[in-house]
Amino acid sequence: MKALVVESPGRLGLTERPMPRVQGSRDAVIRIIASSLCEADLQSFRRGESPLPVGRVIGHEGVGIVDEVGSLVTRFRPGDRVLASSVTSCGECDPCRWGKYSACENGGRQIGIEIDGCQAEFVRIPYADRALHLVPPELSDDAALMLCELTPTAYEAGIITGNLQHGDSLAILGAGAVAQATVLVTRLCSPAYFVLAGRSSTGLSTARSLGASLTLDSRKRDVASQLLKLSGEAGYKVVIDTECSPESVALTHRIVAEHGTVAAVQLHAEGIACSVLGDRDRKRTVDYRCGVTNGGTIAALIQAAQTKRIEPELLVTHRYSFDRLDEAFRSVLADSPSKPIKVSISPRSTGYQGFGATLKAFPARSTGDEHRFYKGQIRSFQPMAAELLRG
Ligand SMILES: [Zn+2]
Ligand SMILES: [Zn+2]
Repeated sequence: MKALVVESPGRLGLTERPMPRVQGSRDAVIRIIASSLCEADLQSFRRGESPLPVGRVIGHEGVGIVDEVGSLVTRFRPGDRVLASSVTSCGECDPCRWGKYSACENGGRQIGIEIDGCQAEFVRIPYADRALHLVPPELSDDAALMLCELTPTAYEAGIITGNLQHGDSLAILGAGAVAQATVLVTRLCSPAYFVLAGRSSTGLSTARSLGASLTLDSRKRDVASQLLKLSGEAGYKVVIDTECSPESVALTHRIVAEHGTVAAVQLHAEGIACSVLGDRDRKRTVDYRCGVTNGGTIAALIQAAQTKRIEPELLVTHRYSFDRLDEAFRSVLADSPSKPIKVSISPRSTGYQGFGATLKAFPARSTGDEHRFYKGQIRSFQPMAAELLRG
């Protein structure tokens, strides 16, 4: 089979590999229909580094058809269309009992890292009954692909870690894929309003079309005071930082409210040195938290997608086949306004069905009562925001 492997440190290549087989009784092998590329993974390859051993098949987001199951797999059989959580977990160790599946002592975040991943025609998934989820017929492959890791990360490491409650004010920092997914799942939580501040103008307009009440360019010098003004100077009850740069971390300090919560999503950036206690913090109680996805909300998010309360497929803006991988890589790493939010890659040469250099224009769709209510909230917030920014 064809697979994308680490050829040498900092170098990836498409090569022929033996088909994976079921190794343990709880394994399944799936034939990949669609996989995605993680920008964070690719950035390290661009820097000429490789966190992965030579020979490893990369990729931790995959949708496919079950091909083979081990003798103890009871929930799936060959032919089922499934999505694989990026987190595999045994369900029996202490971290699993606490729901911290990404810290599982026997699994965890290992697909495409410790074991071969999804950028291949077939992949072996351990603990298949726990890691795989049946994809209902009304969900597209693209929608399912966005539920493997990206959307659960936004929901678990952003919304849940940030303890977002109905009626809270929310600021999202960043305009990349995790930020856009956070905008998407915010539909499930009804904050009073939410503002997104990021560096890419395309990212900002995408966030608005996905439902952000208001967006601000965080490259502007006065972004902190603008954000504060929009919150009536009180600051935000919840700040979700998807950027985790020294600038964004500093910004969280300035804009979080008294008794507010900052959720730093997958804080792994290097070189962040900042004092948590600034002048503004001296008399305040603020909760700073960071987290990763455990994949524990995937089943609930599948239901939300099934009932159109969220539309994860909107996050896939570009599609490629394996024979256009070079182009996929270039697009993900490009510093261009037309760069994808997320790509969907098919191992087959089914021909290009992507959107080329232009970002897909998101149609303003109504997705039921809740969404209409939500749009209403946004409409009433915008004139107020304009007023606040003028004053
Ligand atoms: Zn990822
Ligand atoms: Zn475990």
